[in-house]
Amino acid sequence: MPTVTWKEASLCPKCETQGVEVKTIPIPYRVGARGHIMICPNIERCNWGKEKIRWIIQVNPNGTIPVQQPGPKQYPDLPKITEEDLERRLKDIEDAPLQGGEVNNPFTQGNL
Ligand SMILES: [Zn+2]
Repeated sequence: MPTVTWKEASLCPKCETQGVEVKTIPIPYRVGARGHIMICPNIERCNWGKEKIRWIIQVNPNGTIPVQQPGPKQYPDLPKITEEDLERRLKDIEDAPLQGGEVNNPFTQGNL
């Protein structure tokens, strides 16, 4: 796994200003590894949008710092549900006992 130095990892990912460590936490999925929570001191000029200006540096038990790689999204986007969809589904649920049929799960993606 590629690694970086502390100096490289502690630079703000947006503006490359030297970050400031604010806290150290254990990394739950890596025994013995520590996470160093960093903030960018360049608050006025470093724009991360609405996100807080912070990142975590993982330091492994042997002192190496793995290169941060953006992982795949864990979950797909939820389907967009309109008010009409909800009303139609509620009506389906209300009508179902009268028809003697089963009620589909209204949150199954195929039902949109
Ligand atoms: Zn910055």
